[in-house]
Amino acid sequence: TAPDVPPLRVRDLTVRFAGLTALDGVSFTVEPGSVHAVIGPNGAGKSTTFNVLSGVHRATFGSVRLGDEELTGLPPHGITARGVARTFQNIALSPHATVADNLMLGRHRLTRAGFLAAGLRLPSAAREEARHRERVREIAAFTGLEEHLGRPAGTLPYGLQKLVELGRALCAEPRVLLLDEPVAGMTAEERRRTASLIAGVRDGLGISIVLVEHDMGVVMRLADAVTVLDFGRRIAGGTPEQVQRDPAVVRAYLGR
Ligand code: ADP
Ligand code: MG
Repeated sequence: TAPDVPPLRVRDLTVRFAGLTALDGVSFTVEPGSVHAVIGPNGAGKSTTFNVLSGVHRATFGSVRLGDEELTGLPPHGITARGVARTFQNIALSPHATVADNLMLGRHRLTRAGFLAAGLRLPSAAREEARHRERVREIAAFTGLEEHLGRPAGTLPYGLQKLVELGRALCAEPRVLLLDEPVAGMTAEERRRTASLIAGVRDGLGISIVLVEHDMGVVMRLADAVTVLDFGRRIAGGTPEQVQRDPAVVRAYLGR
């Protein structure tokens, strides 16, 4: 059941913080069902891009559209409601809740009956809950978390907690997934497995992925397209092979 994913178009994105231009007229398009990496040296504007896409920061100028839908200026929950889910660079799980309950939190966007019906113990709410639990199990199996569903999330090793974050984002049935340094802090083995899993999300679920990542090995292996930022400007873009041999990219990385 691949979601109907339109292109995500970022146009002329400009973000100014008191006196400092963090992003300056950045444009790129995330093609449906692709992994689009945003890379660049420290201070290039990667996190700012991510924060605008997820509604944490407001653009000073420019737009973000998902197909015909305007995302520009929406608050984080408004962006989530339109099918754009994110993970956090630093883990933001409920450590005492089980993995299953953390994954269930990702389903809230999709809960029709909602808390009121659940509180009143209506049969419709019970059926809906069962449906969500079933989907949580499927996503746990997909992400390799099935055997950990009953454990408190905070007791899992770091790499697995990162997978719970990813699983929770997938539980929202997103059309676009924003990943902020998904392999940061992972062991080599965890990096390899997470990269395969992200490829599986793209290839198996057809979700578009925006990847902000420092690990060039992972970027080059996973990305279908790369946007390179430096000092808030887009200095290059294309396939991983194209940007790797682009002189402007080499200069930007060697110049630091
Ligand atoms: P990256 O993630 O590529 O390292 P950032 O997007 O974090 O870069 O930062 C881009 C620029 O914007 C940097 O010069 C940074 O200091 C600045 N910046 C980021 N966030 C803020 C903020 N909230 N207030 C002021 N300046 C900021
Ligand atoms: Mg950053």
